[in-house]
Parts: sequence; C-alpha cells; structure tokens
Amino acid sequence: MAARPMPYLNELNPAQREAVERLDGPVLMLAGAGTGKTKALTARIVHLLNTGRAKPNEILAVTFTNKAAREMKNRVGGMLGHAVEGVPWLGTFHAICVKLLRRHAELVNLKSNFTILDMDDQNRLLKQLIVANGIDEKRWPARLLSSLIDGWKNKALTPQKLPAGDAGAFNHRGGELYDQYQQRLRELNAVDFGDLLLHMVTIFQEHPDVLAQYQRWFRYILVDEYQDTNVAQYLWLRLLAGGHKNICCVGDDDQSIYGWRGAEVGNILRFEKDFPGAHVVRLEQNYRSTPHILAAASNVIRGNADRLGKTLWTETEEGEKVRLIGHWDGEEEARWIGEEIEAMQSGTRGLRAMSLNEMAILVRASHQMRAFEDRFLTIGLPYRVIGGPRFYERLEIRDAMAYFRLVVSPEDDLAFERIVNTPKRGLGNVAQQKIQTCARSNGVSLVEGARILLEEKGLGGKGAKELALLLENLARWRGNLIGPQTTLPDDDAVLDDGPDLASPVFDELGGRPTPNAGVAAVGHIELAEIILDESGYTTMWQNDKTPEGPGRLDNLKELVKALENFDNLQGFLEHVSLIMDNESDDAEAKVTIMTLHGAKGLEFPAVFLPGWEDGLFPSQRSMDESGLKGLEEERRLAYVGITRAEEICTISFAGNRQVYGQWQSQMPSRFIDELPEDHVDILTPPGLYGGGFGAASRPTATALDERVANANTYNSPGWKRMQARAGERGMSQPRESKSSVIDASAVSSFTVGDRVFHQKFGYGAILKIEGDKLEVAFEKAGTKNVVASYVTGSDD
Ligand code: ATP
Ligand code: MG
Repeated sequence: MAARPMPYLNELNPAQREAVERLDGPVLMLAGAGTGKTKALTARIVHLLNTGRAKPNEILAVTFTNKAAREMKNRVGGMLGHAVEGVPWLGTFHAICVKLLRRHAELVNLKSNFTILDMDDQNRLLKQLIVANGIDEKRWPARLLSSLIDGWKNKALTPQKLPAGDAGAFNHRGGELYDQYQQRLRELNAVDFGDLLLHMVTIFQEHPDVLAQYQRWFRYILVDEYQDTNVAQYLWLRLLAGGHKNICCVGDDDQSIYGWRGAEVGNILRFEKDFPGAHVVRLEQNYRSTPHILAAASNVIRGNADRLGKTLWTETEEGEKVRLIGHWDGEEEARWIGEEIEAMQSGTRGLRAMSLNEMAILVRASHQMRAFEDRFLTIGLPYRVIGGPRFYERLEIRDAMAYFRLVVSPEDDLAFERIVNTPKRGLGNVAQQKIQTCARSNGVSLVEGARILLEEKGLGGKGAKELALLLENLARWRGNLIGPQTTLPDDDAVLDDGPDLASPVFDELGGRPTPNAGVAAVGHIELAEIILDESGYTTMWQNDKTPEGPGRLDNLKELVKALENFDNLQGFLEHVSLIMDNESDDAEAKVTIMTLHGAKGLEFPAVFLPGWEDGLFPSQRSMDESGLKGLEEERRLAYVGITRAEEICTISFAGNRQVYGQWQSQMPSRFIDELPEDHVDILTPPGLYGGGFGAASRPTATALDERVANANTYNSPGWKRMQARAGERGMSQPRESKSSVIDASAVSSFTVGDRVFHQKFGYGAILKIEGDKLEVAFEKAGTKNVVASYVTGSDD
C-alpha cells in the first residue's frame, strides 16, 4: 500500500509518537493529567487505520463515557483527514458488551432481544423476591441487596462463584437471593447493567471457541482511563487480549476515583505483570494547564502516600494564579460565582472575554447543584447539567413536588398517581384502578374519586385505611396552606437581611427563619417538612440502606431550603415549572454544571470548584473512615478537579452551609491547606470590603492558613478580627444575623444526649446543659465544657 501522509504524527511529542507507532505488543501509557494520553490514544487508532494495520472493525477501543466515545470518533475522522466508515467497536464497556451479548445470548440462556433493566425495575424485582422469601423488606430493603449484587457483579462473581462470606450477607440469604434473582432475570429474558460484563466474562471463560474468534477479530485493543476499570472489566480485557497481546492502556493512578464502585487502581499497577515485556511510556509535558494550576494540583496530590509519583511540566504561559475565596454561605457562593461568570463573559476581570461554553462548575455532591441552578435561573444565565438529571428532575424531588402540587391543587391527577402508593400504602394497581373508575364515572378528580370510593365502601382492608389517612392528611395540609401568606415580606427581605433574632417571628422549632410564623399557624417551609414527614416519604428514604439513600435525603433538605426564597408554595411551584420548561437549546452557549466524577477526561478554560469544606469535600464518610483510603480517593478527586482547568481555576468554600436542614459552621477543606501559597491568590468576598477584586482590595500577605481562616469562619477569632478591621476602615459590615440564627437554634434545640459538632473538638454527645454551657463528651477530644453557640447539631 502506498504510504499515506501522516500529519497527525507531527502534532505529537516524541514520547507520544513512540506510544502511537509501537503498534504491536502491550503498551502502557502511564502519565499525569493533561499530558495528551487521550490524544495519543486517538492518534494510535488513526495510525492503525492509516497504515492499514487494521480495518475499522478490527479495532476495539474502550472509553469511559459515551460522550468521550463520540468525541473520539469525531477526532479520528478529523485526524485522518478523510471520512472513515466509523469505528464500530469504539464505545464504553457497557455499549460494547451489549452488542456482543446480543450475538451470544443463548450461551447464557437468554434470547438476543433481551431487555436491559434500569435501577427501578431491578429494585422492584428484588423486592418481590425478598417478600416471596418471607424476609422483612423493611429491615432488609431491596436497595441494599441490589448494591450487594452490583458489587459482586463488578467483581465478576456469579452466584456459583460467590465466596461463603459474601453469600452470608443480607441476613445469611444473600447468595441464595442472588441466585434466584439471576434465574428470574433469565425467565424474564432480561439483564441488569452489571450482567452485561458478567455474562460476557462467563461466555469467554466457558466457551474458548467464542473467545478465540474475538481474539482474532479484535486485532488491536485500546483502553482509556484504565485506572478506573473494575475486576470484571479487567478480566474481560485480559481474556480478549490473551492471544495477540496488542493492547494499549492509558491511565493515571492519581486519577483513580471510582474505588467506591469497585474500580481497582491495582489493575494499572499490575499491567506489566499481566503482560510481560510491556512497553511503558511516560508522558511528562502537560499541554492543558498553566504552571500555577499545575503546581497547585501537584502539591495537593503529593499528600497521598500510595502513588507512583510523576513529574509534570509545562511550557504554557504563566497566567493567573489559582483563585481562592471564602463565602458567607452556600447561597452567597452561588451568587458570587454567577456574577463572576458574567464578568468573565464580558471580559471585565482583566482576563480575556470567555464564552459560557468555556466555563464549568464542578461539584463534589450533586445536591450542591441546586443553589447554582436557582441562582442562574434568577439571573437568566444559561446553564446545562451534565451527567445525571437536573436537580428538579430527580426522582425524590419529583415525588416531593407531587405532594406539594396536590396540596396546592387537589385536581392534579398526575401528582396523585405519582404519590398515592409512594411510600407503599397497600394501594397497588387494583386499588388505583378502582379509584380511576370511580373518579371517571363521577366526572371528578382522583382525590375526589378516592373520597367517594371510600364513602361507598368500594375499597377494603389496609389500603382503605391508608387511603383515608392520606386524604385526611391532604385536607389538613391544605388547610394549613390557606393562612395569611400574603403578609410575607418580599423575597429580598428574606434573603438579604435574615431574621431579626429579637423578633417573635423567629421559629424555635426549625431553627430557621420563618418570617410568617407570627401570623400563620404554619409557614410554608414547615408545611413542606410536615408534608414530607407525615406522608412517610422522608421515612421511606431514611429506611433506605443503599448508597443513594443519604444523597436523596440531602436533596430533600435542599428542596425545603429552596423554599426559603419564596413567599409560599404556589410561588415556588411556578418557579420550578419555569425551570422545567427552560429546556435546552444546544446551540446556545451555556455554563456546564457537573460532578467532579463526571468531569474526568474533560477540560475547560475556566473551572469553578465550590464547596471545598471538610465534610463536603472531603466527604464526611471519607473522614470518618478508619485508614486513609477514602481520604486519598477524595484527594485524587481534588487533583482531577484542578487539572480540568486550562487558564482559570477558582476554588471556593462557605463558612456556613445547611447540612441536613441545619445551619452548620463549616471548616475550609483540608485540601485548601495543601494548596501552595505561591500559586494562589486569595480573593475577598464582596460583602466584606465593598466588592471588587483588584489588587488593592486584597488582604496584605499573611500566611495562607490565616488568611483563609479570616475569610472563613464567621464566629471564629479570625472572623472577629476581620470584623474589627472592616469597622476601622469604615467598610461594609458583614451580615451578622444568620450566624446568630445558628447560635440560637443551637441553644434552643439541644437536649442531653444530642450529637453535636464543634469546630475544634469534632463530634460529641451532650452530657449536661447549664444555661448556655454544655458539657460534651467528644469522640476524639474527650469531655469538655463548651459554649452552646460554638457547637452545631449533627444528625450524621
Ligand atoms: P486526562 O488525564 O485529564 O485525561 P490526557 O492525558 O488524556 O488528560 P488530553 O486530553 O489527551 O490529556 O490532552 C490535554 C490537552 O493537551 C488537549 O487539549 C490536547 O489537545 C493537548 N495536547 C496533547 N498533546 C499535545 C501535543 N503534543 N501538542 C499540543 N497539544 C497537545
Ligand atoms: Mg484523557
């Protein structure tokens, strides 16, 4: 074949070229963020095609997300300089395995048109099995079983291969139930997500002829983000590459962030053992980020003990230092970021003007997104949420909203259908059918139909009782809604000034400003909480033992919190329907909001990293865990976050945040301490120095720690000093009201035995209360006397 031009090789550095041109045998590209691993991998595909080594369908290329697969496909076309008929086996593990499994379904007793169950289906099926086995589903919830089964599937463990220890999980019935579940799936001609890989591994292991066929077929194998493969994926790859060993894996041990989902960073470290004679390429030049950003990321990741260690350097221009800013609370943080984005868009920060498409907000926990979504909607800033539904589209939020809608308008039949049996009230399909029929024959709403049905005794048993209770509740909640809500102050008053502590409208129960508490029996915020509690909806998620449970509860708290910005439930519901209507037009430039996990492999000129606070990032779970494993994974996530930024990286934290509905003082993340001072600029929150981020408004140089402490804790000595300083200079005083709320709620709501959090001493239980003094047995610091206003409640 005549040699074709290879312009794509000229875009690579020598190390990358080496990885691209060494086509035969195992190659491992192990390198830090932004060093062009993905670029080299893409060039390798192009080179395989261009040199005629492989036809498009002889290349198996695995990416981490569908989005990454699409991008890689486009780039291959672009680099080749002529259209390819596609690289059919370029995709995620799951996408590739679906295709393969359809061809060989019969080998695992399925038909090729099998269906793929989603999480909801999966849980429903497991629930049926649990009940059929006479197990108490309340104590042993389906969601717990489903996460166990997912974990086993990630490890490529079939029911037959399950070690005795695992089989004994779930009240000694785990193994048995797993087996029944797999049988049931076969009867239904269905698979779940984990099965896609598990079945393929089983097929390859049990049918050497099939494996051999694919070993010949896929002549070249390429894998991106190898550090995040789980055992099943690893086995699958190793089986496929077992013949020719033409496998090229790229990854970065510092970016392994899916340990919690069964990924094994060991897979990348073991590569040279698995494939003796593997050629290892290390890339050190980073092409993505400025030196400051790179230095910050490198310094943070240095805190991890368990790593290979890599050097990174860059020739990019010096650019801006990493920007760090502390805010009053989470809402303030969202407001500031919104303003900052608008300023950057118009180029008024002394930086080049940027398109919204060039900016991203990367959050640690999805519940953080709500504040941004609300704020951006208010100021009309276009945004898109990637990976996972937008806040108001989440299951638990939709359920909760359905309750609110039904209270506001009892004719909302869709809302009624959604919640009538959520949580379970013994009102299954038959009962719901009866309600429908009754409503239709009387020409009334479902709520009214249900009432008539009960009156006519058309429904019996537990269902009838529960339905009566639900109707009664709905009526009562609705009664509470019709209070003198119109006497509320306007939004701004609620938002900006906070409640006046001395005023009787401060609500002791909730410890939260409820401006109409003095005039209405129940404010709309309490009403929302009452609805969620009395309906059993909150309890339903509290009893949920899966990893998602706590997140869903967080989201519900966030939802209640969002109500603070509105006069009443009606106004809130209108706001949300607006959000839902605001559906995306992808031609328009938008800010991206996504989780840090979802941002792996991506890059943006400007990145905002909000919520760098202990307990949020790193997560409380990782901090509570014994050992450093969880914390190290969080640190890698911080490294991933910082290294997404090309030009501007802004890290922020809030001094106060509502966690589980309670205001808590937050400590800046320990990762902030690990940022190198020389590469960081501390910005000042506008409330303190009257706005603006010019050099003149920056505090004079003190140790990074102290500056951060000053900016942060509003009731810390640092904060008091800062107040004093601001006062001396005649600058605007920080708002005090909300911090008083924290203190007051703390005093009024504590009882002996409560679990509390103190900034210095950590978690503890209250032993004695004397006026505003508490004796607390701290878990780490021992028993101490502290002032009540220095601790916050914790239901962690
Ligand atoms: P991550 O670890 O975050 O996935 P990566 O190692 O895969 O990063 P790439 O995304 O491939 O890095 O590349 C980072 C950026 O550097 C991209 O914008 C890419 O186009 C650019 N780049 C990579 N190699 C070169 C090169 N040799 N010359 C110029 N730019 C390059
Ligand atoms: Mg990459």
